[in-house]
Amino acid sequence: MNLDITLAEPRGFCAGVDRAIEIVEKALAKFGAPIYVRHEIVHNTHVVNDLKQRGAIFIEDLADVPPGATLVFSAHGVSKAVQAEAAQRGFQVFDATCPLVTKVHVEVAKLAKEGFEFIMIGHKGHPEVEGTMGQLTEGIHLVEDVADVARVQPRQTERLAVVTQTTLSVDDAAEITAAVTARFPAIRAPKQQDICYATQNRQDAVKVLSPQVDVVVVVGSPTSSNSNRLRELAAIHGGRRVRAEPRVVRGQAARGPHRRGLCPRTAGARRGAASARVGCCGCAQNGRH
Ligand code: SF4
Repeated sequence: MNLDITLAEPRGFCAGVDRAIEIVEKALAKFGAPIYVRHEIVHNTHVVNDLKQRGAIFIEDLADVPPGATLVFSAHGVSKAVQAEAAQRGFQVFDATCPLVTKVHVEVAKLAKEGFEFIMIGHKGHPEVEGTMGQLTEGIHLVEDVADVARVQPRQTERLAVVTQTTLSVDDAAEITAAVTARFPAIRAPKQQDICYATQNRQDAVKVLSPQVDVVVVVGSPTSSNSNRLRELAAIHGGRRVRAEPRVVRGQAARGPHRRGLCPRTAGARRGAASARVGCCGCAQNGRH
């Protein structure tokens, strides 16, 4: 069966993840295995498994890292408490926090010194949200949806600012931001540039591609909120959707229709990204078989 496969554009790793993978690779090259990495460096099974094979050990709890070890913080960033614990335990730390996330951390610290409280728009439990909220010990309130906005109770409203999880797209954040602004008209507005262009651009690509194809394949991991959001958007905007690892896609391709869109979130340069290219090319090959 002949299939037309359309590759989404843009695709591939964002600059922040590319940089984080490179930091782990450089640490492995310079100091040798094992290198401990707090949280998965990227929500991509191929990349994580590749780094594991080369000596990276992914942990969530710093208690699992032996004294004197080398530790890398992932692109999501970490709280002040995690930074302090790493220093107290004497680890050699490399911080791979995405510069865009660091910018938000710096802004939160600066405004907090001026007496601001914060409404944070994001997903509870997401590592980036934990890291940003953990820049302060109090005065930062998470809202996940419009209902949360109605419930949130800051101590004062004269000095109130909004921060946004960078990996929400402008579209995702728009409704909640509008609700926040309606309830707190004097609130300091979120900076548009705090939202990650890489997320928005990939979502825009899926919206354009989805109506043109029968099936959209998002190459990603089930733990990636970005990949899951792409899958949702593909369903909303017209493509029947599949989100899967390449081997799962193989089965779908056997029954699949003739025209499909391939929207890899994961491809790029350097060795880690080469694993991701395997995901992309593997899907394309499965689609042809
Ligand atoms: S904020 Fe954007 S560029 Fe930075 S790591 Fe996250 S997705 Fe990548």
